Amino acid sequence: MIAVSRSQESVKQELLQYIFPICVTCILTALLMGFVVVYFNRKLAVRISKMSKYINTLADGNFDNDIPREVMVEDDELKHLANDGRRMAKAIQTLVEYDALTGLNNRRYADKKLAEIRIRAVELGIKYCVCISDIDFFKKVNDTFGHEMGDEVLRRVAEKLKAGMVGKGIAARWGGEEFLLIFDGRELDIARRELELIMNEVRTIWVPDSDRQITMSFGLTALQPGEDIDDALKRADDNLYQAKEGGRNQIVCK
Ligand code: GH3
Ligand code: MG
Ligand code: MG
Repeated sequence: MIAVSRSQESVKQELLQYIFPICVTCILTALLMGFVVVYFNRKLAVRISKMSKYINTLADGNFDNDIPREVMVEDDELKHLANDGRRMAKAIQTLVEYDALTGLNNRRYADKKLAEIRIRAVELGIKYCVCISDIDFFKKVNDTFGHEMGDEVLRRVAEKLKAGMVGKGIAARWGGEEFLLIFDGRELDIARRELELIMNEVRTIWVPDSDRQITMSFGLTALQPGEDIDDALKRADDNLYQAKEGGRNQIVCK
């Protein structure tokens, strides 16, 4: 039997030459991996937190914001989830802010807009006019031609109002056969002229296959600086009442 003995010095040297670099490489690799994991986790955490904030704004009923850009930068599961979330938000927004029959914005949306314009009128000095309008003798349309036909007339009226308000403001269904129009950035006389065009367009609607013309009455008013929205709406409503009393198919504007 042959015994091989090496000096302590040569073992040490071997350690330094082979084992030490391997250990250092392992440690560096582990550190690098750790850094990479922490870096990507952090990035993911930031994106998840942005997504969570976005969902919270939806939960508060605010549909104005889109998904933050950072969430969409990677083509991964989170991006797919965000795209599903966006579609869900659109569906909820349609349910919450639009009227199912006419496709116009509904009263809830109109109330939100009115609260906004009150602030913008005060802070930016923007002029607004509001108009409450109502189909004349609509009950007779239902009674004579049936509820289905009444619905069809509502849809046609809504189409005219929507088209007439493009670039001017919004039209919303305020109640059964009542509609609210909000004119942005306009003096009363301009809004009145624009409203006359809309009124004439409504007059072109006839109950299908009949000799019954559809007309509407309109109560228009300007929001006064600093005025409460409810006061302006009350004035618009009073004007509408006078338009009805005055024979319908007309605008009363004060
Ligand atoms: P006026 O000229 O004074 O406004 O008379 P009007 O007959 O239009 O007013 P009234 O308030 O007496 O009737 C409104 C009718 O609108 C009664 C209601 O049944 C009808 N109505 C409300 N919502 C709807 C709806 O969604 N579809 C249909 N078809 N009818 C509706
Ligand atoms: Mg009415
Ligand atoms: Mg009516």
